[in-house]
Amino acid sequence: MKYQVNEKGYYGDFGGAYIPEMLYPNIEHLRQQYLEIMQERQFQKEFQQLLKDYVGRPSPLFFAERLSEKYGTTIYLKREDLNHTGAHKINNTVGQILLAERLGKKRIIAETGAGQHGVATATVCALKGLECVVYMGEVDIERQAPNVARMKMMGAKVIPATSGSKTLKDATNEAMRDWINNPVDTHYIIGSVVGPHPYPDMVARFQSVISEETRKQLKEKTGSETPDHVLACVGGGSNAMGMFYHFLDDVDVNLIAIEAAGKGVESGESAATTLLGKEGVLHGSRSILMQTADGQVVEPYSISAGLDYPGIGPQHAHLFKVKRAKYVSITDDEAMQAGLLCARLEGIIPAIESAHAFAYLEKMKFSGNETVVICLSGRGDKDLDTYMRYFDL
Ligand SMILES: *Cc1c(COP(=O)(O)O)cnc(C)c1O
Repeated sequence: MKYQVNEKGYYGDFGGAYIPEMLYPNIEHLRQQYLEIMQERQFQKEFQQLLKDYVGRPSPLFFAERLSEKYGTTIYLKREDLNHTGAHKINNTVGQILLAERLGKKRIIAETGAGQHGVATATVCALKGLECVVYMGEVDIERQAPNVARMKMMGAKVIPATSGSKTLKDATNEAMRDWINNPVDTHYIIGSVVGPHPYPDMVARFQSVISEETRKQLKEKTGSETPDHVLACVGGGSNAMGMFYHFLDDVDVNLIAIEAAGKGVESGESAATTLLGKEGVLHGSRSILMQTADGQVVEPYSISAGLDYPGIGPQHAHLFKVKRAKYVSITDDEAMQAGLLCARLEGIIPAIESAHAFAYLEKMKFSGNETVVICLSGRGDKDLDTYMRYFDL
């Protein structure tokens, strides 16, 4: 429990709910209800059923034989790439849509950068027949046309954010504004373990199914529920939090979070938050974020849109500070090579986000036969253009 949120909404020094006063009633309503709703038998039954029949869970734990051979250790992949819509994000949106129904909400809003969370949200809104509005930066709408098309196909309205840099940060501001104006009928589905309390805890709980399944699957395959190392990439931190969740109290399990170093941590173009960041408030919670000396948020950069975020969730900030998990970073080039290697050795094309986690294998030293679990957070179909251009294939 010592790594979990306290009743005030904090993980050590991080977390809380730093929100405009006008959002207070919305957040307070959610805070009072979320645990009770999530623990209802009927809720759990419906959540588990949808995870099974709609998302396709449990996702397999795959023994990656040729990667294992290459690195001289035993490597398993947690196959979140096989989920409906191609990544882990659907675990959270399925949970939140059921919660929104029980809160009596009729309308869903979300923000999206690369469009992955927008797609996962549009998907569950279609499933449940709820109105869906997705805010997306004007620049991202142009860059991520296939995901915009998917959202539209499923009936979502995509509204361009035209202020500032016209990217994720601006879309988030627009979504907040919408929620303030529509507090009664609208639920805001946040896509990672970020935002004001209770979002980081709620999203982590929905994603914790990843490590819950992994323990059972490891037990079947190896006789032990715990591996030596658990690796996951970190944007906001939701696939990593889901992958770490049920291992937090097993102190012998090495938890390794991989951030995007972009063109290099010294290059001024990266998203290596723990290395470059300082404590501060971003998107409603106190955490670690990349900022200038006078507190302006620095524009992050990564070749993978999903890791291109200037902060990390508050629980990660805590795990970093108390050193329960290790935070490292991987460059664009290292991630791209690891993505190609995985494709060639295993016949699996990982999302470039996930490829960052694979790349860290190159930097590890194994003594004898250790067990490694990597969260394969998503599939690389969305990244094929980037891979093709990078490798000139
Ligand atoms: C969005 C995304 C991520 C990053 O988000 P987290 O909240 O850090 O998990 C990682 N991998 C994939 C495939 C994604 O779509």
